[in-house]
Amino acid sequence: MSELVCIVCPRGCTLQVEGAGDALQVTGNGCKRGADFARSELTAPKRTLCTTVRTAFPDVPVLPVRVSAEIPKEKIFPVMEAINAVTLETSVAMGGVILEDVLGLGVDVVAASDLLRRTGP
Ligand code: SF4
Repeated sequence: MSELVCIVCPRGCTLQVEGAGDALQVTGNGCKRGADFARSELTAPKRTLCTTVRTAFPDVPVLPVRVSAEIPKEKIFPVMEAINAVTLETSVAMGGVILEDVLGLGVDVVAASDLLRRTGP
């Protein structure tokens, strides 16, 4: 049996997981999302990513960004490198795409703030 903490909501249930594959048994979860989380975590763990991207605007030198959907855990650092290679030179509204289909993952990096909308050209 292995134990892990569900990170889907702030309740943080401690999950006990037994078995493998289709026979995986999850207990300790307060809702179905915990069981889904445990299965995903033990087969193909995914994470969301919130960070900042550099801009060319002195008033807003960095802009908060996030991925539009969860990405494989092992792709977090490669996606960070792709984001770190960008310097935004045009304004973008919240939700605007900064990097489309980053690393071919089918996920975009989008603006998580409207800060540049008030600043940029
Ligand atoms: S199992 Fe459900 S209630 Fe418990 S932390 Fe996960 S999402 Fe929240």
